[in-house]
Amino acid sequence: MNIIETNLQFRSLSYRSRTNRLILHHADASVYSPEQIHRLHLQNGWSGAGYHFEVRKDGSIYRLRPEGAVGAHASGSNSDSIGICFEGDYDVEIMPDVQKQAGKELVAWLKGKYGVSKVQAHRDVCATACPGAKFPFAEIAGASGSVSVTTSQPVQVSGEIAELQNECNVQGFSSQKVDNIPGPITLAGCPMLKKGAQGNITRWVQRKLNALGFNCGSVDGVFGVKTKAAIMAFQRAMGLIVDGIVGPKTWSKLLGLS
Ligand SMILES: [Zn+2]
Repeated sequence: MNIIETNLQFRSLSYRSRTNRLILHHADASVYSPEQIHRLHLQNGWSGAGYHFEVRKDGSIYRLRPEGAVGAHASGSNSDSIGICFEGDYDVEIMPDVQKQAGKELVAWLKGKYGVSKVQAHRDVCATACPGAKFPFAEIAGASGSVSVTTSQPVQVSGEIAELQNECNVQGFSSQKVDNIPGPITLAGCPMLKKGAQGNITRWVQRKLNALGFNCGSVDGVFGVKTKAAIMAFQRAMGLIVDGIVGPKTWSKLLGLS
């Protein structure tokens, strides 16, 4: 079993004095990256991702909150438990075997490491349907045996396109591989931007336009009049419809795909 470290940045954390049980969750969403979980939980006002681990559909296991920290995943039951989230909506979906297998290994490993046998579903301790009626709870909770573990660092690909790919993932527009290579999936993950947009994706567009010689002034992440004018100049130069809106055709040119 391999655990991928995420190196997420947390606000203040407190630490458990004991670990008596594991609590299983589903993401309640078909696609949900570690970064998305972290971002959402920060928005909730928490210290960051509330679960200790996420098991993704492809069988990859990510460490979210530090293992010894008190989680934020099951109200009233966080002080002595480790929370594991399974990507997917198991009210309706069927769990892929590779994910189930990874979940079993993680549960077996944690049981052995902490000397615990108690595994609960979120619904056992809170008024919730989590982890969903189709979640194979008995099979995963019953896992045991010795498991050897390796850990790996997240692949850190840097570059202009990687930065955009990562940001589109973080904001939930995509769940793509961050490889710094633009392609159709990168394009599909780029949101439409127009006057009034704000944030890191707008910032990326501004930086790109300035670098290409279409001056949009300071890179402030705010899609204002100057950014719109720069987009229109760019569209004119590229032979596109000049509407000042960054849609698929404009993105395609910015990404160098067409
Ligand atoms: Zn839950």
